[in-house]
Amino acid sequence: MRSRLLRTARCLGRDYTKPSAQALRCSGARWQSTSGREWSTPLAKTLAEAISVTGPLPVAAYMRQCLTSDLGGYYTSHNEGRDVFGQKGDFITSPEISQVFGELVGLWVVAEWMAQGRKSEGVYLMEVGPGRGTLMDDMLRTIRNFPALASSLEAVYLVEASPSLREAQHKLLCGDKPIEEIDIGHQSYSKYADNLKVIWTEDVRFVARDPAKTPFIIAHEFFDALPIHIFQSVPPSQPSAPSEITTPTGKHTLNETARLPRASQTNSWRELLVSPTPPYSNHASLGTPKSQQSSGPPPEFELTVAKASTPHSLYLPETSQRYKALKNSDHAVIEISPESQAYAADFAVRIGGGTAPTPTPSLAATSSSTTTTTTQARPVSSSKPEPVHKPTPSGAALILDYGPPSTIPTNSLRGIKQHRMVSPLSEPGLVDLSADVDFMSLAETAINASEGVEVHGPVEQALFLNAMGIKERAAQLVKRALDRERGASLEKSEGERRKEDLTETVKRIETGWKRLVDRGPQGMGKLYQVMAIVPHVPPKEGEKRRRPVGFGGDIVV
Ligand code: SAH
Repeated sequence: MRSRLLRTARCLGRDYTKPSAQALRCSGARWQSTSGREWSTPLAKTLAEAISVTGPLPVAAYMRQCLTSDLGGYYTSHNEGRDVFGQKGDFITSPEISQVFGELVGLWVVAEWMAQGRKSEGVYLMEVGPGRGTLMDDMLRTIRNFPALASSLEAVYLVEASPSLREAQHKLLCGDKPIEEIDIGHQSYSKYADNLKVIWTEDVRFVARDPAKTPFIIAHEFFDALPIHIFQSVPPSQPSAPSEITTPTGKHTLNETARLPRASQTNSWRELLVSPTPPYSNHASLGTPKSQQSSGPPPEFELTVAKASTPHSLYLPETSQRYKALKNSDHAVIEISPESQAYAADFAVRIGGGTAPTPTPSLAATSSSTTTTTTQARPVSSSKPEPVHKPTPSGAALILDYGPPSTIPTNSLRGIKQHRMVSPLSEPGLVDLSADVDFMSLAETAINASEGVEVHGPVEQALFLNAMGIKERAAQLVKRALDRERGASLEKSEGERRKEDLTETVKRIETGWKRLVDRGPQGMGKLYQVMAIVPHVPPKEGEKRRRPVGFGGDIVV
């Protein structure tokens, strides 16, 4: 559950080419383009100028720029120098609410490792979008209690776009161990084990897909930050052609079939595009739900429906039966995230072997931006990827995020600022953008990419965490806090970590875990879903299919 609390920053109110992190945070400042129009952020100005040359942008390209452009992207620039995660920061995410969350995710990895025969070498952990590193830290602390797994770990890979968050993760996970640059990013060593490498990279495709390795991959609140394309089903245009023609032989009445070109008789998908709102406009933008519309000026950018088909609208909605089934529902809106699909396919291939599809035209297009504010290096290759032969699938991926469990997300693009939903089309780079995750699309992509995997879930977070024993673990933490108070010398607990008094500690543990499994509208138990990609093991005759813990299965010892 995301929320942001922007601190009021002193404004510098001047034009420049390379904005400083402080200047990017000044919400009152304006940036003027050559046309004389003023923009709320330097990124708004850059985007508007680029659009005036190249035409309106697909939503995915706009999102990519807003989130990870190195000239003012939300993650890559404006967070510099301050902590946006945790209770006192801008975001509240589950690992920041309670240490129990990361511990149970760590236990899930332990349970999968045991169920898959306790590999003694070649195991690695990977987290995509690790935020402050809290989840990975809680996982590693838990895994330390299982020495056979801990000693099989070769490396921890962290896929992170933000340099400032990489620094925070390094501090938390490695303490004062030095960090050095390597070919795929950066490297240091875990504070828990001198020989455990921690490796940062900006894209999962930089990490070799070695069939001899066993990857355990975690994605918490990562997929909702990946760009989406939005398409609307548009009915055929009304006939404007004449109903009669006059020829040298007289007047002829045309029947409808003859009057309309064949292609326009069925609905077609049209992409929603982003462009600057015309100056002096006072209309509400297509992208702004009523609840987010204020009486103030309209957002700086607006969504319009493309007048004609684009390569994306001709290609992406044809890639799954799920989209095709909606094509003839007039005005249906669907969201598709090819970048999310590429990540799901990558995870599946790492676990089960196979060939991850080449990035779609869309992925390449949104990565190599149409603006001059280039994003981080993107390893989009034009050559066909090598298939990964993995005779014995191994490893697992756990995806935790928000989105509908089975339907295609629609109208879910939102901006988040100061704990409130705001227009995603204002103050680019200062507003966090996210969209619902299409779990079924991730499942479908994973299964299509690798014959060696199966998918479990999604299940509600409440169900998953309850099955993992959240109540019992929280009770254990409360007991430890009480025992410590009685003078027992026990392992370092959250209470020590945050120097709170006992009552506060107990209250925080209790409210924290309950919020994670609360199925009400304010809780995270129903809103968040959990899905697992694991090796496909056909059940032996007379046996049932193995189910992972948290998805209906028991711990296999
Ligand atoms: N998992 C963390 C943080 C979630 S916020 C938690 O639950 O607290 C999203 C994270 O993904 C941030 O670390 C952000 O910097 C990272 N991120 C966003 N887009 C990314 C991209 N395209 N590539 C790599 N990392 C990205």
